[in-house]
Amino acid sequence: MNQSITDISLTKAATQLWDVVVIGAGPAGAASAFLLAQEGFKVLIVEKKTFPRAKVCGCCLSGRAVRQLEHLGLSEVLTRAIPLKSFVLKSASQSVRLPTAGGVVLSRAELDYNLLQRAVSAGADLIQGSTAILGQVNDHSRTITLQSPAETILLEAKLILCCSGLGEIPNNSGEEIPVDVEKNSKIGVAAIVDSGNWIESQTIEMIVDRAGYVGLVQLEDGKLNLAAALNRAIIKQAGGVTQVISGMLERTGFGTKLSAFAPQWQGTLPITRQLRCPAFPRTFVLGDAAGYVEPFTGEGMAWAFESAELVQSLAGQAIHNWKPQFVQDWNFHHQKLVRRRQLTCKIIKRMLDTPWLIRPAINLLSIAPQISRPFVRSIHG
Ligand SMILES: Cc1cc2nc3c(=O)[nH]c(=O)nc-3n(C[C@H](O)[C@H](O)[C@H](O)COP(=O)(O)OP(=O)(O)OC[C@H]3O[C@@H](n4cnc5c(N)ncnc54)[C@H](O)[C@@H]3O)c2cc1C
Repeated sequence: MNQSITDISLTKAATQLWDVVVIGAGPAGAASAFLLAQEGFKVLIVEKKTFPRAKVCGCCLSGRAVRQLEHLGLSEVLTRAIPLKSFVLKSASQSVRLPTAGGVVLSRAELDYNLLQRAVSAGADLIQGSTAILGQVNDHSRTITLQSPAETILLEAKLILCCSGLGEIPNNSGEEIPVDVEKNSKIGVAAIVDSGNWIESQTIEMIVDRAGYVGLVQLEDGKLNLAAALNRAIIKQAGGVTQVISGMLERTGFGTKLSAFAPQWQGTLPITRQLRCPAFPRTFVLGDAAGYVEPFTGEGMAWAFESAELVQSLAGQAIHNWKPQFVQDWNFHHQKLVRRRQLTCKIIKRMLDTPWLIRPAINLLSIAPQISRPFVRSIHG
């Protein structure tokens, strides 16, 4: 994170017709902007936060995500990443250690900043600290409103890539964007605390119990990243996230008191959600904004990078000459790439929602670790 990134002004952005406006500079947005800027398109990235910023995430990139970054020519964003060697699964007094290969750990502050820097170096323009809201479509473009604390402006783009992450699509167009949110979905929470030496480096510790699951990993700067998917009713009963996670740590034998570190939790909306169709006129939705399932298998970033590559050719055609057929095309391609893979995660999620299954599963894995191979492959590719 040594080179700074310069934004363009809102006034300058408002004077041109953009080929693409990318909403959100997470992995899906930054990778898409990088690929399209490299092709010579006029790309504007709009991000509501200012980078570097933390993000609710386990910070583990699967082997598949690492290979995808290499394939896209983005592997140097991982220069400070730490290789992952093992995955320790714990529940109450039981635990099993499974070897992993190919995955790495990197804080989201570092990873996302590096990706954004690459997109800007490839020629994309950037506005941070402004929220983008989808506007009306006309024959040649779609409008987008940008709201910063100081001003509100209107932009025009031939195509919008909506990569705004988990949550409602920011929309002022009057079009309906139906989304299915699973009723009992857990929420995501995360915090970074000083002193990651509670756990071994190069290891993910994952604790599972009836409240949900929490993953602990030591980051590149030695701090500890805690990320969890938790049952909302249990958080309420326990009186807060720190209480729930402290209980989970204590029951699995962690001596260190989490409350002593006063963790500052960031949270998400309910995690398991899906847009009925991830495309609408002059707009493709990708990454978490299109749909996500609970993150136990840590695949979200791999999906984001793969979707960025997949959208590239369709985006090029859509910029040159938008056709209504592109809505079905993106729905079809996206479904083929991501939704079928999310099925594996849904199966694991069902198992995690059935706490009595977890203990026998851990026992079985410790007796016959070879049966973990497909499971570990699904986590770390
Ligand atoms: C608890 C938890 C743990 C996880 N652990 C892992 C893991 O270990 N490994 C893994 O691969 N995945 C993990 N994931 C999933 C991963 O974090 C996501 O899949 C990934 O970040 C998706 O990238 P994205 O670009 O779609 O969205 P995001 O990374 O969420 O980026 C979206 C960006 O859009 C910006 N934005 C939103 N709205 C607007 C707007 N209106 N205007 C402008 N900007 C906007 C946001 O500020 C944000 O920067 C985890 C998720 C959770 C909840």
